Amino acid sequence: PDVITIQELANRMAERGVEIIKYLMKDGAMHKITDVIDSDTAQLIAEEFGHTVRRVSEADVEEGFIGEKDKEEDLVPRAPVVTIMGHVDHGKTSLLDAVRAANVVSQEAGGITQHIGAYQVTIPSGQKITFIDTPGHAAFTAMRARGAKVTDIVILVVAADDGVKPQTIEAINHAKAADVPIIIAINKIDKPGADPQRVRTELLSHEIVVESMGGDTLEIEVSALKRTNLDALLEAVVLQAEVLELKANPDRPADGVIVEAKLERGRGPVGTALVQRGTLKLGDIIVAGSAWGRVRALINDLGDHTKEAGPSVPVEVLGFDTAPEAGDQFAVVENEARAREITEYRERERRKTLAVAGQRGSLEQLMNQL
Ligand code: GDP
Ligand code: MG
Repeated sequence: PDVITIQELANRMAERGVEIIKYLMKDGAMHKITDVIDSDTAQLIAEEFGHTVRRVSEADVEEGFIGEKDKEEDLVPRAPVVTIMGHVDHGKTSLLDAVRAANVVSQEAGGITQHIGAYQVTIPSGQKITFIDTPGHAAFTAMRARGAKVTDIVILVVAADDGVKPQTIEAINHAKAADVPIIIAINKIDKPGADPQRVRTELLSHEIVVESMGGDTLEIEVSALKRTNLDALLEAVVLQAEVLELKANPDRPADGVIVEAKLERGRGPVGTALVQRGTLKLGDIIVAGSAWGRVRALINDLGDHTKEAGPSVPVEVLGFDTAPEAGDQFAVVENEARAREITEYRERERRKTLAVAGQRGSLEQLMNQL
């Protein structure tokens, strides 16, 4: 059974600890403020002091966290969220940079773009696309391991002069396991040794049949270096997104995923939130993993302060008590008490897990449970 210290119970009821000790003395029991009592006793005391008790269970935490399902009529189209994956040196970073440079309209000439772990571009047709630019595989696997579904579409970069390589195959497997559609970007077509056709053929042995070979996987030949065909690649993303009919309700408390988090000198804990549903606003109470806080500032991918962020929009969030972790799911909750309840529950669960693993003395077990 769960236990609680008299001090903690007093804090939660906003009573003085000595009042609880006095109460327990009526039954002849002598207690110190640091003593632990079981949850049934705690409930009795709380009710005796005129409080309504709500026990928090895993189900309760998750349910409260996920909230109500959205009604169909409240859903509106949202931008696709794209992750670029591929073998090392095949051009992931170059492609991300080229796409961003070509499609970010900064308010001021020469405006500085920020690295916040994700960014959104607007293509000439007016559609928006969100890119996650935290290092591909690591972020993707970490987030998947935490059960977060972040990406709608994977762009798989394959260098035309190098072909399918181990991390290409790994990326294919990740995308398939996550049931995320793949678009193939055959990169470096400017290079003398480029052989795009070889890439198409090699992909066949990994059950990827590209469109030009009669399959349904879109493939685009590009050069990140020369910025060739990037528009066509983004059009392919829009096309794929239309098939997926991506929608979300912007008019509800926000939830989503933390794609990047850090502790910064002078700014404190900073997390980049990718909103998946609802609208995140200044002043909201946000919970992410075992971190929580009141949203003090929201900063967009251009480095500008903003008042809110809707579905598929990434924003830096300031105001957390501690840094959350990349891959943590976040949600806005109704009040601080609820935020404390959830994070304290999670922290207790985490300690229990650590304690159990510690008793068994198995590092492997510990790793598995983290
Ligand atoms: P990543 O490891 O997948 O992020 O790959 P990078 O973006 O760092 O690119 C690796 C190298 O390939 C760099 O030297 C890039 O300049 C080069 N590169 C990337 N894209 C192209 C391209 O389209 N053409 C040519 N010729 N080189 C490229
Ligand atoms: Mg890179």
